[in-house]
Amino acid sequence: MCAKLEIIKADITTLSVDAIVNAANNSLLGGGGVDGAIHRQAGPQLLEECATLGGCPTGDAKITKGFRLPSRFVIHTVGPIWRGGSHNEPELLAGCYQSCFALAHQHHLKSLAFPSISTGAYGYPLEKACGIALREIQLAIKQYPELEKIVVACFDQKTLDVYQKIKSGLSGV
Ligand code: ADP
Repeated sequence: MCAKLEIIKADITTLSVDAIVNAANNSLLGGGGVDGAIHRQAGPQLLEECATLGGCPTGDAKITKGFRLPSRFVIHTVGPIWRGGSHNEPELLAGCYQSCFALAHQHHLKSLAFPSISTGAYGYPLEKACGIALREIQLAIKQYPELEKIVVACFDQKTLDVYQKIKSGLSGV
């Protein structure tokens, strides 16, 4: 299991994996943060394909091609906006990871990279979101033996530190 999970500091748009995950919004029509970076690198065809998808509910995911990105696919998921924690945020965030892994499985993907979903503009407390992310990744690695590599691409040092700290406290990750 250790061999499968890599927590690194990186711009997710540079990673050569089967799919990178986008922390998108419900419209799937582009936004700031990691979404903006992914659309810039992928080029305008990504927006064209996203426009055919009819948006995406929070906690769910949809897949597109990667166009000019080094990754073959982009899995767009919509994390919850943090509203204090009693509005189903943990279940919705877990749902993002579960939906991404289910889509990856359907498309026979073996390597995935995730950003820290919801912890930017959507304001999810980093340690809480990180705990959910690592738990769901751990479960998926057990559930889907075809997975070879899962990358968590942390964009800033604080996110990297928190992911590494929480990972080191989890047995078997
Ligand atoms: P959300 O709206 O889900 O909070 P954001 O894009 O605002 O999404 O932030 C999610 C995380 O993605 C934040 O930790 C942010 O720093 C990070 N991020 C922003 N750009 C990139 C990038 N190019 N690669 C990886 N992570 C990124």
